[in-house]
Amino acid sequence: MSTVYLIGAGPGDPGLLTIRAKELIETCDVVVYDYLANADFLDYARPDAEIIYVGKKGGDHTLPQDQINALIIAKAKAGKSVARLKGGDPYVFGRGGEEAEELVEAGVPFEVVPGVTAGVAAPAYAGIPVTHRDFTTSVCFITGHEDPTKEESGHNWEVYAKSNSTLVFYMGVKNLPMIAGNLMAGGRPKDTPVALVRWGTRCNQESMVSTLERVAEDAEKRKFAAPSIIIVGGVCSLSNKLAWFEKKPLLGKGVVVTRAREQASELADLLKDMGACVYEFPTISVEPLDDYAEVEQAILSLGGVDWLVFTSVNGVRFFWDQLAEAGLDSRALGGVEVAAIGPATAGELRLRGVNPDFVPPKYVAESVVAGLLERGVQGKSVLIPRAKVAREILPEELARAGAKVRVLPVYETRLAQQDPDEIIDALSAGKIHAVTFASSSTVENFFDLLPLETMRLYPKVRFACIGPVTAKTLKRYGLNAHIQPEEYTIPGLAAALAAAL
Ligand code: SAH
Repeated sequence: MSTVYLIGAGPGDPGLLTIRAKELIETCDVVVYDYLANADFLDYARPDAEIIYVGKKGGDHTLPQDQINALIIAKAKAGKSVARLKGGDPYVFGRGGEEAEELVEAGVPFEVVPGVTAGVAAPAYAGIPVTHRDFTTSVCFITGHEDPTKEESGHNWEVYAKSNSTLVFYMGVKNLPMIAGNLMAGGRPKDTPVALVRWGTRCNQESMVSTLERVAEDAEKRKFAAPSIIIVGGVCSLSNKLAWFEKKPLLGKGVVVTRAREQASELADLLKDMGACVYEFPTISVEPLDDYAEVEQAILSLGGVDWLVFTSVNGVRFFWDQLAEAGLDSRALGGVEVAAIGPATAGELRLRGVNPDFVPPKYVAESVVAGLLERGVQGKSVLIPRAKVAREILPEELARAGAKVRVLPVYETRLAQQDPDEIIDALSAGKIHAVTFASSSTVENFFDLLPLETMRLYPKVRFACIGPVTAKTLKRYGLNAHIQPEEYTIPGLAAALAAAL
């Protein structure tokens, strides 16, 4: 029999998963998760892990609790380790206690991994510390939705009302008028601050502050719905002063990242850090060539090369893969001068112990040509390892300037196999504010995958292009690059988006 792990997956921000939880998702045979557990975590699971969604959103229980329990027990008895992911903390209104009892009864070994509970995290992300010496000496976690089959309420509203405790309600939005009414009837002052935080810690977090007297009406007006945490008490008055998360420049903005999956993370991470809701839609897939005979031959004759010019991170990676295939390493470049077209490519070289001799101040082919000319590239032999199909301007200009140029394809890019449905759904729900393009081929592939006519239905969506060449490609589709950075880099692109949106 294997162990079942009852794991708190935190309130939504992927960074709030514990290290122990991640380790277990990475190693368990079965991962069982529900509505409130961030589905991004499934990426950590083993490729061969069995992944089971058991639902639980308001009314639409995908699997009733007893069947969830039976399923988990059956898997454990079949010798499979089970990671049972629950939103927040498993023992805070997560029915984790009941699941653990069932496991004990079935004789299945289990462990609990506490998680960051929404009742603490959502207020923290909204600028509200649940305790503060100036306001309260205690905090109370309360269900705002008691089991409707219970005959007598377990709540003692008088006690809640008369204490100076911060009250944190889970599952309470629908019952807000009742909650506020009972607290006022029990003696909490009408002007007690109350806050609501919806989708706390996620890129779509929203919050509002009101008073006991007005909160039901205010929440109704603002259409606040589940999942929300309700916080009652003086600490809510700090939210303005201590707000930080909702100040992020791209909070709530949906941004599409179209780069190849292998390359998307830098831009995606920068955007997420600025608060954006990132939609990864890789339009390019980066693939090795079918045949590396030409590369092998070129590597063996590196002795005759004066300059190696790398135009992309992938160029560096695939070139080094082939060096390794030939039983060589960075030392093979000992006598060669090396140029990188931009800081990311330069960084990739440094990872391999090569500090580039030249990185142009502006990250376009034209600027590389000018810089290399200054460094006396005339009459020299230049090797450019790069994608099979790429812009010809760099080799052409260098050749025109008198260099002996050889282009060496080391990888190829293809149109990614992508289903545009998720993006189209998000567009029609008004969730997407911008689409980013980091190269001309991402533009071309994007419109191969998603019809231009569909895109035209959403004229408010902004297009962000990394530089003038990409913007020109977009123009061919009759679309303007509304956002363009001054510096043609990924950080530049992210900063320009933040400024524009
Ligand atoms: N075990 C969970 C709570 C499950 S009960 C935990 O410890 O956080 C479900 C309720 O939790 C929701 O109705 C809502 O009140 C609250 N909740 C969960 N995630 C939330 C989030 N990201 N933002 C606001 N409230 C959340």
